[in-house]
Amino acid sequence: MALDNPKYQKMLDNLIKICRKNLKVVDEALITKAFELSVEAHKNDLRASGEPYFTHPYEVAMIVAEEFPLDDVTIVTALLHDVVEDTDYTVEFMNREFGKEVSEIIDGVTKISGIFRGHEITKAENYRKLLLSMVKDVRVILVKFADRLHNMRTLEFVKPDKQRRIAQETLEIYAPFAHRFGLGKVKWELEDLAFKYLNREAYEELARKLKAKRRDRESYIKKFAEPIVKKLEEANLKIELSGRAKHLYSIYRKMVRRNKPFEEIYDLFAIRIILDTENRNECYTTLGIVNQIYLPVPDRFKDYISIPKTNNYQSIHTTVVGPLGRLVEVQIRTRRMHEVAEKGVAAH
Ligand code: MN
Repeated sequence: MALDNPKYQKMLDNLIKICRKNLKVVDEALITKAFELSVEAHKNDLRASGEPYFTHPYEVAMIVAEEFPLDDVTIVTALLHDVVEDTDYTVEFMNREFGKEVSEIIDGVTKISGIFRGHEITKAENYRKLLLSMVKDVRVILVKFADRLHNMRTLEFVKPDKQRRIAQETLEIYAPFAHRFGLGKVKWELEDLAFKYLNREAYEELARKLKAKRRDRESYIKKFAEPIVKKLEEANLKIELSGRAKHLYSIYRKMVRRNKPFEEIYDLFAIRIILDTENRNECYTTLGIVNQIYLPVPDRFKDYISIPKTNNYQSIHTTVVGPLGRLVEVQIRTRRMHEVAEKGVAAH
């Protein structure tokens, strides 16, 4: 029994703890059963890193529990997602032991890789709908993205030619799909990881430059935000402020597109104002306050609250002239809009 091993018991406890924190209902018995089966089924296999293979489905389940906590069935499926593909256990066995819901999602995850490889659907206008109709259950997609994310996070252990192939596929197929599903946070991480393996020199140079400017950036943003925060407090608006660092790949893409060096990409300064309200009018009040303090730059204003993006993304984007004439991109959104921006289909 896997759970006789204190290391495994601890891993399971950890997973269940996160599930309890993020989910309303947690079937601990079912998760435990899936955990044990996954350890057993993969017991003879190793990852490229030399670790027991089970660490992979386990980490995928942890990503689901942290990033897309939809329900306990998704956790169970994440633990079992490679069992049918890589071992002798069948979908019928899963159906008998874990029920139809679990076995159908596992079956879907096993088959979805083929759909992702079908490049032509990435060109279809509403491929989100197309993919959803093919997949039926959004949980299949969430497990698949968590799977790809963990594989990308551990790509360093894989041979260079395979690294390139997987990174390319991630950049061309998975990242755009993550965007379509509104999984903003996953999209950025996938892109940055793929960028690292596809163009390591450019990646490292950018990372170094961003790091060197970090203190500078942080103190500037603090100075920039101070009067805004003060005015918002006076107006009784509760907010969370984040001086977000731009993602490496998006900076790189801008440099290439505008043919400009790092130093001239101006929206390196960016903050996000998240309002503790569901009243969207307060976003416009906030915008008004920002514009009273700093001059907005024409043509850089986008109102995705009135007109959401097709992946349901909502936010106000504006760029203003901050102290020392530096341009700062400001995003304004409610808590709920932020959840949707980061977690897309998994937000609820
Ligand atoms: Mn996997």
